Amino acid sequence: MARSYVGEARRRGLGRRRDRIGPIVERLAAEHADAEIALRFRSDLELLVSVMLSAQTTDVNVNRVTPALFAKYRRPEDYLAVPQEELERDIYATGFFRQKAKAIRGTMQMLLEEFDGEVPRRLDQLVLLPGVARKTANVVAAELGHAQGVVVDTHVRRLSQRLGLTRQDDPVKIERDLQRVVPRPDWARFPHLLIWHGRRVCDARRPLCEECVLADLCPSARIVPAP
Ligand code: SF4
Repeated sequence: MARSYVGEARRRGLGRRRDRIGPIVERLAAEHADAEIALRFRSDLELLVSVMLSAQTTDVNVNRVTPALFAKYRRPEDYLAVPQEELERDIYATGFFRQKAKAIRGTMQMLLEEFDGEVPRRLDQLVLLPGVARKTANVVAAELGHAQGVVVDTHVRRLSQRLGLTRQDDPVKIERDLQRVVPRPDWARFPHLLIWHGRRVCDARRPLCEECVLADLCPSARIVPAP
């Protein structure tokens, strides 16, 4: 599917990825001026925990749990001061609570031992934290103002393919393609723009191409993708 959209961009004479990316970012930024992370947090530590909790669940779900959680657990030490079962109960509603509690406690331990209790900014340091995969690390680094990659979630994957920005399926390879084509200053906001566009306009099953500001730049416009 992705391969045909890259080829289709050429067939439709839409121009190279590098030439289309400027207007794509510009138009999406105008269309979704409110596009930002949906998780609610007030500190680097709350950001890190929120992103860890958001695995396999919705941001809305996480936001329901975190106000009480963050009132109780303010410092890395606080997560280690209770039995793991208590933390599991406190994050139960986000799902996968056992793995998440274990990962959070391991992360807090490492923050205290290796990083003076602070959340590191570098991607290579963030991915050392237990339970912090590249996507989580990318989200945290970007929100801390130090984007070192491009977050690829399900919306970013789908839209990047439909827009003919990548022919890859694997998130790591998609990210590599996006890093080549998206200007570095836009690495942090680009995923948010695609995520909001994906939610509001470019739905997985029923993309609203006739209402889309990218229709003349998009090689899959008005093509109904196979489910
Ligand atoms: S033109 Fe259609 S397929 Fe392309 S980005 Fe817009 S809604 Fe999605």
